[in-house]
Amino acid sequence: MAAQREWYEKDYYQVLGVAEDATPKDITKAYRKLARELHPDKNPGDAAAEERFKEVSAAYDVLGDDTKRGEYDEVRRLGPMGGMRGPGGPGGGIRFNVGDMGGAGGFGDILGNMFGRRGAPGGGGGAGPRRGSDITAVLTVDFADAARGVETTLFLTTDAQCSTCNGTGAKPGTSPRVCGNCGGRGVVDDNQGFFSFSTPCPVCGGQGNVIDEPCPTCHGRGIEQRPREVKTRIPAGVKDGQTIRLKGRGGPGRNGGPNGDLLVELKVTPHERFGRRGNDLTVTVPITFAEAALGGEIDVPTLDGPTVTLRLRPGTQSGSRHRVKGRGIATAKATGDLIVAVEVAVPSELSDDQRAAIEQLAAATTVNPRSALT
Ligand SMILES: [Zn+2]
Ligand SMILES: [Zn+2]
Repeated sequence: MAAQREWYEKDYYQVLGVAEDATPKDITKAYRKLARELHPDKNPGDAAAEERFKEVSAAYDVLGDDTKRGEYDEVRRLGPMGGMRGPGGPGGGIRFNVGDMGGAGGFGDILGNMFGRRGAPGGGGGAGPRRGSDITAVLTVDFADAARGVETTLFLTTDAQCSTCNGTGAKPGTSPRVCGNCGGRGVVDDNQGFFSFSTPCPVCGGQGNVIDEPCPTCHGRGIEQRPREVKTRIPAGVKDGQTIRLKGRGGPGRNGGPNGDLLVELKVTPHERFGRRGNDLTVTVPITFAEAALGGEIDVPTLDGPTVTLRLRPGTQSGSRHRVKGRGIATAKATGDLIVAVEVAVPSELSDDQRAAIEQLAAATTVNPRSALT
């Protein structure tokens, strides 16, 4: 159970020194680096480092977990009360720290319970706007599409606002009624002398309203699973394992809250001929011994479009790399090159003429390439 007040007050992103839209990979990287630097074994007797180490661990405990991170972002955005009124809120009362209360059954528990009720029946009333959940999808794109960018359609079955009840959760023709116990606030006050606590309303479960006849499609959740299509453009130059965030294309928001995001994780299938290093494309091209020794022009395949001519100098070495400018991946920011590795192909069979010519070459060869080794 999480201490929401603590989440609200601590900027874990800042603790780890990462941006709020940092990828899970970046977060793990930042955490590992800090954990290594601050580890107590490395800083014996340094109380400040130990404190920092604990902070960093606590931050990663939340940000390193997709679910917890989503909840944390929500708490940071909506405040620890999730938009409900409570102590310190517009309802008045005394502002106090969770840390001061301590013990089981403290303030942290109450807040934790409120947040444990995501996706429960809802609509209007005491529960404030809620952002929809982020949804992750995996998209496989082939090498060439990843290189040049592609317009694509994702077919997903995800949470969507229930079409039967328009998200109210109530049977068509009926509507949720304001909870009589809490007057729609979603919380009830529990006066204990000097302090006034707010606890989630036990009748409506903190939602502020009650559904007498639940919608038959969504059983009161206001959400149903629906297939949907999301058209999107994958930009040129995306990499295998990269995640693209499509703002507002995730789960539906509740009570006027914004939609979540759709996170598209890309799997790029390898190409049989081309490889990639950043925006550069790589290709290996066989050449004959004669082309390597005498030099010449060879045709080199490109990923898009016709072949290009590569001029080889006399004495070109097998395995050497040659750059063809501007024939790599063109992204919005930069255009890469095509890196051609040439490899001398040795014939496995020789005609009589070829054999005779090579024997002549052997006889005329005066330099032993292994002389430096012996
Ligand atoms: Zn419904
Ligand atoms: Zn109520």
